Amino acid sequence: MNSPPHDQPLLLVVEDNPTNLALVRAVLTRAGFKILEAQTAEEARQLLATVRPDMIVMDIQLPGIDGLTFTRQPKADPATATSPIVALTAHAMQEDRQRALDAGCVGYIAKPINTRTFADELTRLLRG
Ligand code: MN
Repeated sequence: MNSPPHDQPLLLVVEDNPTNLALVRAVLTRAGFKILEAQTAEEARQLLATVRPDMIVMDIQLPGIDGLTFTRQPKADPATATSPIVALTAHAMQEDRQRALDAGCVGYIAKPINTRTFADELTRLLRG
């Protein structure tokens, strides 16, 4: 496994499913990331008012504001404009990947996540 790009990058994980969130938390903390968690886009926005994570890992299917709608919003908002967003999508269909990129995501990772490669994929995306 590659090391994260700098000491303990801070990720904001937005995921409404507690089981998925627990799995992501376990994998990422073990890999040396610091994580903040939100279960909705609204919660994420509140956190982003005061914290600037290195990256946002965002489930697309959320109650309320969905992940892609959220991704389109913050670009006009200086408070959140600089954190790149990676989409977590249950749909591995090409059109869903394209929708994520069109919305402004820097990448996408299909769920269920591969616990052996997930942290490395995020590290690669963090390095741009
Ligand atoms: Mn969901």
